[in-house]
Amino acid sequence: MNILRLVVEEKERKKRAAVNPNFAKIEDEASSKDKGDCPIHFPKDELIATLSAEQFQVTQQGKTERPFSGKFVHTKDDGIYTCVVCDNPLFKSDQKFDTMCGWPSFSDVIAHGKVTVKRDTSHGARRIEVSCSQCGAHLGHVFDDGPRPTKLRYCINSASLDFKKHTTV
Ligand SMILES: [Zn+2]
Repeated sequence: MNILRLVVEEKERKKRAAVNPNFAKIEDEASSKDKGDCPIHFPKDELIATLSAEQFQVTQQGKTERPFSGKFVHTKDDGIYTCVVCDNPLFKSDQKFDTMCGWPSFSDVIAHGKVTVKRDTSHGARRIEVSCSQCGAHLGHVFDDGPRPTKLRYCINSASLDFKKHTTV
């Protein structure tokens, strides 16, 4: 990579950061090489036995469920969304908002560090993958077109989530 290209990329990064500082922070985090290791590992046999086929494909193989097919797309109840694999609390119902994209969408996570972000260049796209920081389960992707004040949209597969009704943290 030559210097001119680095300068142009840095300029573009600063421009994006001015428009959406929260997403710029996530982009930086996603580019960081230091991901560490997930503290919890489940044996594959155990996961196959406890998860549905779709839950396994999404959380362990990074697949995406069909839009509008997930069970939490239209859920509006109060509660907490947890990782379907390890029960890690990830999102609150008041962070969920309506979109037309067909997947449960959240404007933020319950707390920083609950998810790990990583650049995903599969399918020729430049996306940021979101996974559970506790067990490494694939959850979905995060985009910069969410509602204010965060302007973030965590687009998450229902198959990666469990829902605890009327629970607060
Ligand atoms: Zn997990």
